Amino acid sequence: MTDLRNQFIARIAAIGPLTLAEFITDCLLHPKYGYYTTRTPFGRAGDFITAPEISQMFGEILGLWLAQIWRDQGSASKFALVELGPGRGTLMADILRATRGISGFHDALDLHLIEASPSLQDQQSKQLGLVAPTWHQTLNTVPDLPLFLLANEFFDALPVRQFIRDGRQWRERCITIREGVLAFGLTDAAPQAALVHRLTDTKQGDLVETCAPAQAITQQIGQRIKAQGGAALIIDYGNWRSLGDTVQSVQGHKPIPPLSSPGLSDITAHVDFEALAMASPSAHTWPTAQGVFLERLGITERANVLAKTLQGSNLKSHIAAHHRLTHPAEMGELFKAMALFPKNYPSPPGLDL
Ligand code: SAH
Repeated sequence: MTDLRNQFIARIAAIGPLTLAEFITDCLLHPKYGYYTTRTPFGRAGDFITAPEISQMFGEILGLWLAQIWRDQGSASKFALVELGPGRGTLMADILRATRGISGFHDALDLHLIEASPSLQDQQSKQLGLVAPTWHQTLNTVPDLPLFLLANEFFDALPVRQFIRDGRQWRERCITIREGVLAFGLTDAAPQAALVHRLTDTKQGDLVETCAPAQAITQQIGQRIKAQGGAALIIDYGNWRSLGDTVQSVQGHKPIPPLSSPGLSDITAHVDFEALAMASPSAHTWPTAQGVFLERLGITERANVLAKTLQGSNLKSHIAAHHRLTHPAEMGELFKAMALFPKNYPSPPGLDL
């Protein structure tokens, strides 16, 4: 039994059931036992693999996307380049390498990383070498400059709550103890102010998810972009509107029941892009399939150039990586990219408007 599981059991016995969000928060970020605090989950040897870890092309393309928007908005002489949840730092390292040749871009950028896990901060520092970022727990302490922000698989790690419709009220799914083990339970039905708009598109028994932290962060990002310019690119798996239970836990690249391994497995939920778009006071694009977005920005041309330098198994894995990032049956369709941008500037390239 993990220590975190014992802590949950003691806490529930003392104060009653936990919300799913309370459970997820501790599973991922508990200072001593949290998944991101104690492990390096990424890569083949870890529990899952993310787009920047699949191929350098992902970061290269996003870097040039950012640089294009920076130019379209007049090449600000100073801006904040921000990444939310940079993992191993691979995406940012690729972005910085790909944009080295863009005149003035590196001189203007001020690098800020929002990372809750001290051990991942260490890895990011090593990966970025001579470039010295400033780390933050939240956006509050990032300087108020034009904001160019990336978030790949960050929002899916934020804690969701789940509600099941009962008449015009909702029962919240909670974590309780049954026969000595952690189990899902339901609260009594109650009205939910944040879900009034979902009474029109749901029926008895439907489950919806909410993620208040995701909405709060997006609102903050959108306010800065509206006031100072810039753009934010959010890439994650999810849909325009949440419906149904999307919480999943992954260990060693395989799904496991979400309550079975607290602190030792990743827990994520699909991102509700509508909730993010509605929380932001800036303009937004539509969430666009990752494969379509990367193809529009020229990933195949880039793949062909790189292929010329490769042979044998390296070439094979390069082709597989391109396929994995873009093909609808792999990450191409489930993953979506959505940008926030200021209304009075050209819209960002590659995304549906
Ligand atoms: N973007 C990376 C990693 C995604 S995993 C990639 O694509 O490979 C999620 C990342 O978000 C991790 O770095 C995790 O430590 C960080 N994270 C999760 N919740 C966070 C929070 N509330 N505040 C800051 N960082 C968080």
